[in-house]
Amino acid sequence: MKLYCDLHIHSALSPCGDDDMTPQNIVNMAKLKGLDAIAVTDHNSCENTAACVEAGKRIGLMVIPGMEIQTREDIHALCLFSSVDKALSFQDYVYKNMPEIKNKEELFGRQLILNSKDEYMGTCERMLLTSTLISFDDACYAVCNMGGAFIPAHIDRDGFSVITSLGFMPPNSNIKTVEYHTMEGLYRLIKMKLINEDYRFIKSSDAHYLGDISEREMYINVESFSLESIIKKLNS
Ligand SMILES: [Zn+2]
Ligand SMILES: [Zn+2]
Repeated sequence: MKLYCDLHIHSALSPCGDDDMTPQNIVNMAKLKGLDAIAVTDHNSCENTAACVEAGKRIGLMVIPGMEIQTREDIHALCLFSSVDKALSFQDYVYKNMPEIKNKEELFGRQLILNSKDEYMGTCERMLLTSTLISFDDACYAVCNMGGAFIPAHIDRDGFSVITSLGFMPPNSNIKTVEYHTMEGLYRLIKMKLINEDYRFIKSSDAHYLGDISEREMYINVESFSLESIIKKLNS
């Protein structure tokens, strides 16, 4: 069955995410757009994951627990998990391997922690918009070891992509799905033989504002509407 989804959305926890990117606003907008599932993928953190999953459950929208990690090499990758607990364990690992720097709100923006009813629960103090000390390969290994899916993000963008940071796509048998930003950008990389066509290519919004969440356009074929089934597909 076809599952229409947007697997790369930032909440108000990401300093660059709009303060209106609250759990309820995100899931309601995704529902309005006709999506079946979304992933909330904040920079180096999952502090709003449980709230978004819960808000999604209330309106019948599947929310995949996730994070957008920034590796030691300045590469962004989506890390998607089949449960909130797994996402939070991964967050522990990431937090232990991040420089202890405080966020500068006035420079980078607020990092809001909210509950599933959009109530303010606090602010994440650590600077999330920074590289972790975890390498691309180690991050991939850790995610896959926890049964998750590791998806290099916006590979055709000029910044924070595996191609711009390393100059090539490292061979890694655990990576089956790759995210692109524009079709033109993806074709360019394929034409330049910087990436082969064997991957599953997905397009997500990387939304930082509500209006940017994807329309009902991109889908993946899954056996059933379950988190496990989606992760399995992304890893096959
Ligand atoms: Zn990114
Ligand atoms: Zn992003």
